[in-house]
Amino acid sequence: MKIEAIDLFYVALPEITRTADGSQDSLVVRIRTDNGLEGWGECDASPLISMAAYVMPMSHSNVININEALIGETLDSPEDVIRLRNKAGEYGLDIQQLDHAVAGADIAMWDVLGKHLAEPVWKLIGHEASYRKLPYASVLFGDDPAETRKIADSIVGRDFRAAKFGWGPMGRGSLEDDIALVQAARDGLGFDAKLMVDAGVIWGDNVDAAYKRAVAFADLGVTWLEEPLRTEEVGAYKALSDRVRENGVKIGIAGGEGADFYRAADDMMTNAGLDFVQIDVGRIGGITESKRVADRAHELGIQYVNHTFKSHLSVASAIHVFAGYEEFDLTEYPVGESPLILGLTAPTGVFRDSNGLIAAPDTPGLGVEVNLDTLRQYQRQVKIEVDGEVLFESQEP
Ligand SMILES: [Mg+2]
Repeated sequence: MKIEAIDLFYVALPEITRTADGSQDSLVVRIRTDNGLEGWGECDASPLISMAAYVMPMSHSNVININEALIGETLDSPEDVIRLRNKAGEYGLDIQQLDHAVAGADIAMWDVLGKHLAEPVWKLIGHEASYRKLPYASVLFGDDPAETRKIADSIVGRDFRAAKFGWGPMGRGSLEDDIALVQAARDGLGFDAKLMVDAGVIWGDNVDAAYKRAVAFADLGVTWLEEPLRTEEVGAYKALSDRVRENGVKIGIAGGEGADFYRAADDMMTNAGLDFVQIDVGRIGGITESKRVADRAHELGIQYVNHTFKSHLSVASAIHVFAGYEEFDLTEYPVGESPLILGLTAPTGVFRDSNGLIAAPDTPGLGVEVNLDTLRQYQRQVKIEVDGEVLFESQEP
Protein backbone atom coordinates (compact mmCIF):
# COMPACT_ATOMS: atom_id res chain seq x y z
CA MET A 1 0.00 0.00 0.00
CA LYS A 2 0.99 3.62 -0.37
CA ILE A 3 0.67 6.56 2.02
CA GLU A 4 -1.93 8.82 0.43
CA ALA A 5 -2.42 11.53 3.05
CA ILE A 6 -1.33 12.74 6.48
CA ASP A 7 -4.00 14.60 8.43
CA LEU A 8 -3.22 16.73 11.48
CA PHE A 9 -5.68 17.48 14.27
CA TYR A 10 -4.85 20.01 16.99
CA VAL A 11 -7.16 19.34 19.94
CA ALA A 12 -7.27 21.34 23.18
CA LEU A 13 -9.43 21.89 26.22
CA PRO A 14 -11.20 25.27 26.25
CA GLU A 15 -8.91 26.48 29.04
CA ILE A 16 -5.20 25.64 29.33
CA THR A 17 -3.59 26.09 32.78
CA ARG A 18 0.03 26.13 33.95
CA THR A 19 -0.24 22.82 35.84
CA ALA A 20 2.16 20.08 34.67
CA ASP A 21 -0.72 18.24 33.00
CA GLY A 22 0.02 17.02 29.47
CA SER A 23 -3.58 16.00 28.82
CA GLN A 24 -4.76 19.55 28.11
CA ASP A 25 -3.98 19.52 24.40
CA SER A 26 -2.54 17.26 21.73
CA LEU A 27 -1.51 16.83 18.14
CA VAL A 28 -3.25 13.76 16.69
CA VAL A 29 -1.92 12.45 13.39
CA ARG A 30 -3.84 10.28 10.92
CA ILE A 31 -2.22 8.45 8.02
CA ARG A 32 -4.49 7.33 5.18
CA THR A 33 -3.42 4.75 2.61
CA ASP A 34 -4.52 4.03 -0.96
CA ASN A 35 -6.31 0.82 0.09
CA GLY A 36 -8.69 2.69 2.37
CA LEU A 37 -6.97 2.04 5.72
CA GLU A 38 -5.99 4.59 8.32
CA GLY A 39 -3.65 4.67 11.29
CA TRP A 40 -3.41 7.07 14.21
CA GLY A 41 -0.69 8.53 16.40
CA GLU A 42 -0.32 11.22 19.07
CA CYS A 43 2.56 13.61 19.80
CA ASP A 44 3.51 14.88 23.26
CA ALA A 45 4.69 18.36 22.30
CA SER A 46 3.36 21.77 21.33
CA PRO A 47 0.77 20.92 18.66
CA LEU A 48 1.25 24.07 16.58
CA ILE A 49 5.06 23.90 16.47
CA SER A 50 4.86 20.21 15.57
CA MET A 51 2.34 20.87 12.79
CA ALA A 52 4.77 23.26 11.18
CA ALA A 53 7.30 20.43 10.86
CA TYR A 54 4.81 18.64 8.57
CA VAL A 55 4.16 21.55 6.21
CA MET A 56 6.83 24.26 6.44
CA PRO A 57 8.66 25.35 3.28
CA MET A 58 12.02 23.75 2.52
CA SER A 59 15.05 25.72 3.72
CA HIS A 60 17.76 23.49 2.26
CA SER A 61 18.55 19.80 1.83
CA ASN A 62 18.34 19.07 5.58
CA VAL A 63 15.22 21.08 6.35
CA ILE A 64 12.43 19.39 4.41
CA ASN A 65 9.02 18.75 5.93
CA ILE A 66 7.61 15.39 7.06
CA ASN A 67 4.80 15.30 4.47
CA GLU A 68 7.40 15.56 1.72
CA ALA A 69 9.29 12.60 3.20
CA LEU A 70 6.30 10.27 3.62
CA ILE A 71 3.40 10.97 1.25
CA GLY A 72 3.39 8.69 -1.80
CA GLU A 73 5.75 6.19 -0.15
CA THR A 74 5.23 2.43 -0.06
CA LEU A 75 4.31 0.92 3.33
CA ASP A 76 4.08 -2.87 3.31
CA SER A 77 6.42 -4.15 6.04
CA PRO A 78 8.10 -3.27 9.34
CA GLU A 79 11.26 -2.54 7.35
CA ASP A 80 9.28 0.09 5.43
CA VAL A 81 8.25 1.86 8.65
CA ILE A 82 11.86 1.96 9.86
CA ARG A 83 13.06 3.13 6.43
CA LEU A 84 10.45 5.90 6.34
CA ARG A 85 11.11 6.97 9.92
CA ASN A 86 14.78 7.28 9.01
CA LYS A 87 13.94 9.12 5.79
CA ALA A 88 11.90 11.68 7.71
CA GLY A 89 14.87 12.03 10.07
CA GLU A 90 17.25 12.71 7.17
CA TYR A 91 14.86 15.17 5.49
CA GLY A 92 14.48 17.01 8.80
CA LEU A 93 18.06 16.57 10.03
CA ASP A 94 18.31 20.21 11.15
CA ILE A 95 14.77 20.58 12.51
CA GLN A 96 14.93 20.56 16.31
CA GLN A 97 11.25 19.63 16.62
CA LEU A 98 11.54 16.72 14.19
CA ASP A 99 11.51 13.84 16.69
CA HIS A 100 8.58 15.26 18.66
CA ALA A 101 6.60 15.87 15.49
CA VAL A 102 7.38 12.71 13.55
CA ALA A 103 6.42 10.59 16.58
CA GLY A 104 2.76 10.92 15.56
CA ALA A 105 3.41 9.75 12.00
CA ASP A 106 5.67 6.91 13.15
CA ILE A 107 3.00 5.61 15.53
CA ALA A 108 0.32 5.98 12.83
CA MET A 109 2.48 4.03 10.35
CA TRP A 110 2.81 1.12 12.80
CA ASP A 111 -0.95 1.26 13.46
CA VAL A 112 -1.94 1.20 9.79
CA LEU A 113 0.63 -1.49 8.96
CA GLY A 114 -0.79 -3.66 11.74
CA LYS A 115 -4.26 -3.27 10.29
CA HIS A 116 -2.92 -4.08 6.81
CA LEU A 117 -1.12 -7.23 7.98
CA ALA A 118 -3.72 -8.15 10.64
CA GLU A 119 -1.08 -8.19 13.40
CA PRO A 120 -0.74 -6.30 16.68
CA VAL A 121 2.07 -3.74 16.73
CA TRP A 122 3.95 -5.60 19.48
CA LYS A 123 4.46 -8.52 17.09
CA LEU A 124 5.49 -6.33 14.16
CA ILE A 125 8.24 -4.70 16.20
CA GLY A 126 9.74 -8.06 17.12
CA HIS A 127 8.22 -9.18 20.41
CA GLU A 128 7.31 -12.85 20.73
CA ALA A 129 4.87 -12.40 23.58
CA SER A 130 2.94 -9.65 25.31
CA TYR A 131 3.35 -9.60 29.09
CA ARG A 132 0.93 -7.87 31.40
CA LYS A 133 2.10 -4.82 33.34
CA LEU A 134 1.13 -3.25 36.65
CA PRO A 135 -0.29 0.21 35.88
CA TYR A 136 0.56 2.96 38.30
CA ALA A 137 -1.92 5.79 38.64
CA SER A 138 -0.03 8.90 37.63
CA VAL A 139 -1.17 12.05 39.40
CA LEU A 140 0.10 15.43 40.51
CA PHE A 141 0.65 16.29 44.20
CA GLY A 142 -2.11 18.35 45.78
CA ASP A 143 -1.28 21.90 46.84
CA ASP A 144 -0.62 20.66 50.38
CA PRO A 145 -0.46 17.37 52.34
CA ALA A 146 -4.22 17.36 53.05
CA GLU A 147 -5.10 17.66 49.38
CA THR A 148 -2.46 15.06 48.50
CA ARG A 149 -4.01 12.68 51.02
CA LYS A 150 -7.42 13.10 49.35
CA ILE A 151 -5.93 12.27 45.96
CA ALA A 152 -4.26 9.16 47.44
CA ASP A 153 -7.58 8.09 48.96
CA SER A 154 -9.30 8.43 45.59
CA ILE A 155 -6.62 6.26 43.95
CA VAL A 156 -7.21 3.54 46.53
CA GLY A 157 -10.94 3.95 45.87
CA ARG A 158 -10.25 3.16 42.22
CA ASP A 159 -8.36 -0.02 43.16
CA PHE A 160 -4.88 0.94 41.98
CA ARG A 161 -2.02 -0.92 43.66
CA ALA A 162 0.62 1.59 42.57
CA ALA A 163 0.74 5.36 42.21
CA LYS A 164 3.10 8.15 41.33
CA PHE A 165 2.79 11.66 42.69
CA GLY A 166 4.63 14.48 41.02
CA TRP A 167 5.28 18.15 40.45
CA GLY A 168 3.02 20.64 42.26
CA PRO A 169 4.70 21.95 45.45
CA MET A 170 7.43 19.26 45.52
CA GLY A 171 10.81 20.95 46.04
CA ARG A 172 9.36 24.43 46.31
CA GLY A 173 9.44 24.53 50.12
CA SER A 174 11.67 22.94 52.77
CA LEU A 175 12.85 19.35 53.10
CA GLU A 176 10.21 18.91 55.83
CA ASP A 177 7.50 20.21 53.47
CA ASP A 178 8.53 17.65 50.84
CA ILE A 179 8.53 14.81 53.37
CA ALA A 180 5.05 15.84 54.56
CA LEU A 181 3.73 15.61 51.00
CA VAL A 182 5.14 12.12 50.45
CA GLN A 183 4.02 11.02 53.92
CA ALA A 184 0.46 12.11 53.04
CA ALA A 185 0.59 10.11 49.82
CA ARG A 186 1.90 7.07 51.70
CA ASP A 187 -0.70 7.39 54.47
CA GLY A 188 -3.48 7.46 51.88
CA LEU A 189 -2.15 4.58 49.80
CA GLY A 190 -1.24 2.33 52.74
CA PHE A 191 2.09 0.56 53.02
CA ASP A 192 1.37 -2.27 50.56
CA ALA A 193 0.94 -0.05 47.50
CA LYS A 194 3.90 0.94 45.36
CA LEU A 195 4.63 4.66 45.61
CA MET A 196 6.82 6.68 43.25
CA VAL A 197 7.76 10.36 43.48
CA ASP A 198 8.32 12.65 40.49
CA ALA A 199 10.26 15.77 41.45
CA GLY A 200 9.81 17.42 38.05
CA VAL A 201 13.51 18.42 37.65
CA ILE A 202 13.09 20.82 40.58
CA TRP A 203 16.62 20.52 42.03
CA GLY A 204 18.35 21.30 38.73
CA ASP A 205 21.96 20.24 39.31
CA ASN A 206 21.86 20.27 43.14
CA VAL A 207 22.92 16.75 44.09
CA ASP A 208 22.80 17.46 47.85
CA ALA A 209 19.18 18.59 47.78
CA ALA A 210 18.18 15.56 45.72
CA TYR A 211 20.17 13.15 47.92
CA LYS A 212 18.50 14.39 51.12
CA ARG A 213 15.08 13.69 49.56
CA ALA A 214 16.21 10.28 48.31
CA VAL A 215 17.17 9.27 51.86
CA ALA A 216 13.96 10.61 53.40
CA PHE A 217 11.69 9.14 50.74
CA ALA A 218 13.40 5.74 50.93
CA ASP A 219 12.24 5.59 54.56
CA LEU A 220 8.68 5.96 53.26
CA GLY A 221 9.08 2.99 50.93
CA VAL A 222 9.28 5.02 47.73
CA THR A 223 10.24 2.82 44.76
CA TRP A 224 11.89 5.59 42.75
CA LEU A 225 12.71 9.26 42.82
CA GLU A 226 12.01 10.55 39.33
CA GLU A 227 13.64 13.49 37.60
CA PRO A 228 15.23 14.99 40.70
CA LEU A 229 17.58 16.82 38.31
CA ARG A 230 17.42 18.34 34.85
CA THR A 231 17.81 15.87 31.99
CA GLU A 232 21.03 17.45 30.70
CA GLU A 233 22.73 17.22 34.14
CA VAL A 234 23.98 13.74 33.38
CA GLY A 235 27.10 14.12 35.57
CA ALA A 236 25.01 15.26 38.54
CA TYR A 237 22.68 12.30 38.01
CA LYS A 238 25.69 9.99 38.15
CA ALA A 239 26.97 11.61 41.36
CA LEU A 240 23.52 11.21 42.91
CA SER A 241 23.07 7.59 41.80
CA ASP A 242 26.55 6.66 43.05
CA ARG A 243 25.91 8.28 46.43
CA VAL A 244 22.56 6.53 46.79
CA ARG A 245 24.13 3.14 46.00
CA GLU A 246 27.31 3.59 48.05
CA ASN A 247 25.25 4.47 51.12
CA GLY A 248 22.78 1.64 50.63
CA VAL A 249 19.79 3.95 50.28
CA LYS A 250 16.88 1.79 49.14
CA ILE A 251 15.41 3.88 46.34
CA GLY A 252 15.77 3.87 42.57
CA ILE A 253 16.73 6.88 40.48
CA ALA A 254 14.50 7.43 37.46
CA GLY A 255 14.63 9.81 34.52
CA GLY A 256 14.56 10.05 30.77
CA GLU A 257 11.25 11.60 29.77
CA GLY A 258 13.19 14.68 28.73
CA ALA A 259 15.18 12.60 26.24
CA ASP A 260 13.68 13.76 22.98
CA PHE A 261 15.90 11.76 20.67
CA TYR A 262 17.50 8.34 20.93
CA ARG A 263 21.04 9.55 21.63
CA ALA A 264 19.92 11.57 24.67
CA ALA A 265 18.27 8.48 26.15
CA ASP A 266 21.37 6.41 25.43
CA ASP A 267 23.52 9.05 27.15
CA MET A 268 21.35 8.88 30.27
CA MET A 269 21.33 5.08 30.29
CA THR A 270 25.09 4.87 29.82
CA ASN A 271 26.29 7.77 31.98
CA ALA A 272 23.63 8.81 34.52
CA GLY A 273 23.50 5.66 36.65
CA LEU A 274 19.73 5.32 36.21
CA ASP A 275 17.76 2.41 37.62
CA PHE A 276 14.68 3.27 35.53
CA VAL A 277 14.59 4.95 32.11
CA GLN A 278 11.30 6.58 31.24
CA ILE A 279 10.56 7.17 27.59
CA ASP A 280 7.73 9.11 26.01
CA VAL A 281 6.82 7.54 22.69
CA GLY A 282 5.26 10.83 21.56
CA ARG A 283 8.44 12.81 22.22
CA ILE A 284 11.37 10.63 21.27
CA GLY A 285 10.23 10.01 17.71
CA GLY A 286 7.65 7.27 17.98
CA ILE A 287 7.53 3.52 18.48
CA THR A 288 10.59 2.89 16.28
CA GLU A 289 12.94 4.95 18.47
CA SER A 290 11.33 3.92 21.78
CA LYS A 291 11.85 0.26 20.89
CA ARG A 292 15.57 0.96 20.34
CA VAL A 293 15.70 2.40 23.87
CA ALA A 294 13.83 -0.58 25.35
CA ASP A 295 16.23 -3.00 23.64
CA ARG A 296 19.24 -1.05 24.93
CA ALA A 297 17.78 -0.84 28.45
CA HIS A 298 17.33 -4.62 28.39
CA GLU A 299 21.01 -5.05 27.45
CA LEU A 300 22.13 -2.70 30.23
CA GLY A 301 19.85 -4.13 32.92
CA ILE A 302 17.98 -0.85 33.39
CA GLN A 303 14.22 -1.02 33.78
CA TYR A 304 12.35 0.60 30.89
CA VAL A 305 9.13 2.38 31.84
CA ASN A 306 6.90 4.42 29.57
CA HIS A 307 6.25 8.07 30.23
CA THR A 308 2.64 8.79 29.26
CA PHE A 309 0.43 11.65 30.37
CA LYS A 310 -1.93 11.73 27.42
CA SER A 311 -4.77 9.72 25.82
CA HIS A 312 -5.21 5.98 25.51
CA LEU A 313 -3.89 6.32 21.97
CA SER A 314 -0.56 7.13 23.66
CA VAL A 315 -1.08 4.52 26.40
CA ALA A 316 -1.51 1.85 23.71
CA SER A 317 1.44 3.10 21.66
CA ALA A 318 3.63 3.11 24.77
CA ILE A 319 2.83 -0.39 25.98
CA HIS A 320 3.38 -2.13 22.64
CA VAL A 321 6.99 -0.89 22.78
CA PHE A 322 8.02 -3.01 25.78
CA ALA A 323 5.25 -5.63 25.73
CA GLY A 324 7.66 -8.51 25.18
CA TYR A 325 10.01 -7.76 28.07
CA GLU A 326 8.65 -9.55 31.10
CA GLU A 327 11.04 -7.79 33.50
CA PHE A 328 9.71 -4.34 32.49
CA ASP A 329 6.61 -4.84 34.59
CA LEU A 330 5.43 -1.32 35.46
CA THR A 331 3.57 1.13 33.27
CA GLU A 332 2.56 4.74 33.75
CA TYR A 333 -1.19 5.12 33.47
CA PRO A 334 -2.83 8.56 33.29
CA VAL A 335 -5.92 8.86 35.51
CA GLY A 336 -6.79 12.57 35.31
CA GLU A 337 -10.18 14.06 34.53
CA SER A 338 -9.33 15.48 31.09
CA PRO A 339 -11.72 14.27 28.34
CA LEU A 340 -8.61 14.00 26.15
CA ILE A 341 -7.43 10.97 28.21
CA LEU A 342 -10.29 8.46 27.92
CA GLY A 343 -12.50 10.35 25.49
CA LEU A 344 -10.09 10.48 22.57
CA THR A 345 -10.40 6.72 21.99
CA ALA A 346 -13.71 5.96 23.72
CA PRO A 347 -15.14 3.36 23.91
CA THR A 348 -11.81 1.64 23.11
CA GLY A 349 -8.81 1.94 25.41
CA VAL A 350 -6.24 -0.05 27.37
CA PHE A 351 -8.13 -1.13 30.46
CA ARG A 352 -7.23 -3.17 33.53
CA ASP A 353 -8.17 -6.86 33.68
CA SER A 354 -9.62 -8.61 36.74
CA ASN A 355 -6.12 -8.75 38.27
CA GLY A 356 -5.65 -5.02 37.87
CA LEU A 357 -3.05 -5.45 35.12
CA ILE A 358 -2.92 -4.10 31.57
CA ALA A 359 -1.49 -5.55 28.37
CA ALA A 360 -0.80 -4.38 24.84
CA PRO A 361 -3.91 -5.21 22.78
CA ASP A 362 -3.76 -8.32 20.58
CA THR A 363 -6.02 -6.84 17.89
CA PRO A 364 -4.49 -5.50 14.63
CA GLY A 365 -2.49 -2.29 14.88
CA LEU A 366 -2.46 -0.42 18.18
CA GLY A 367 -5.81 -1.91 19.18
CA VAL A 368 -7.57 1.37 19.94
CA GLU A 369 -9.63 3.62 17.67
CA VAL A 370 -9.88 7.40 17.73
CA ASN A 371 -13.30 8.81 18.56
CA LEU A 372 -14.07 11.34 15.82
CA ASP A 373 -16.74 13.08 17.90
CA THR A 374 -14.13 13.91 20.55
CA LEU A 375 -11.78 15.18 17.83
CA ARG A 376 -14.55 17.42 16.45
CA GLN A 377 -15.51 18.68 19.89
CA TYR A 378 -12.00 19.78 20.89
CA GLN A 379 -10.44 20.57 17.52
CA ARG A 380 -8.73 23.94 17.08
CA GLN A 381 -9.04 25.45 13.64
CA VAL A 382 -5.60 26.24 12.23
CA LYS A 383 -4.53 27.90 9.00
CA ILE A 384 -0.83 28.28 8.12
CA GLU A 385 -0.25 30.68 5.26
CA VAL A 386 2.89 32.15 3.67
CA ASP A 387 2.64 34.93 1.07
CA GLY A 388 -0.99 34.03 0.44
CA GLU A 389 -0.23 30.35 -0.14
CA VAL A 390 -2.08 28.12 2.32
CA LEU A 391 0.32 25.46 3.60
CA PHE A 392 -2.17 23.93 6.00
CA GLU A 393 -5.81 24.30 6.90
CA SER A 394 -7.70 22.21 9.48
CA GLN A 395 -10.20 19.78 8.01
CA GLU A 396 -13.21 17.87 9.30
CA PRO A 397 -12.12 14.59 10.90
MG1 LIG B 1 7.86 12.70 35.13
